[in-house]
Amino acid sequence: MADNALEIWMPDTCGCKIYSSYDDTLPIEQRVYTYVTEETARQIHQARIDSGTPHTNKKPLSPARLCPVHTQHGNTPALKEAIKVENDRKNNVFLLLQEQFPALRYIEGDLEGNNLKAAVYKWLFDLDRVLVFRLEGLGIVLNQAQKNNLQRIIDNRLGEGLVRIE
Ligand SMILES: [Zn+2]
Repeated sequence: MADNALEIWMPDTCGCKIYSSYDDTLPIEQRVYTYVTEETARQIHQARIDSGTPHTNKKPLSPARLCPVHTQHGNTPALKEAIKVENDRKNNVFLLLQEQFPALRYIEGDLEGNNLKAAVYKWLFDLDRVLVFRLEGLGIVLNQAQKNNLQRIIDNRLGEGLVRIE
């Protein structure tokens, strides 16, 4: 059975917007999501409309987007891989931090923000695509020794030079 369905991904770690195809007749745990170009996505979408597949949105697909930091990958599977590496890094750092600080909450986006009601993980990617984060809010204040210790743990698990504590 060919891939007949589409997934759109707009990661919170960059401005890309990409499509993947999958076979929606398979159980969820068996599905394989394969990067497709916007052109292929349009063909899959049109085929669904033409065959009268239920629950198909008949509106045109919105365009895929290649953000400025990922242009070197072009519209190829390497693009999805590059996005995934960064997105996984952001998520893995959060999971690692939550081991140390169970009260920590995840928050998307940039390093600005006010009226924090919980301890939050605030992150961004700098110009070199290093993940920079800080913890803000109630109950978590890191001194330099704690920061150094955390940095060591992160570097050991994820590799050096990929993450920086602000
Ligand atoms: Zn991107």
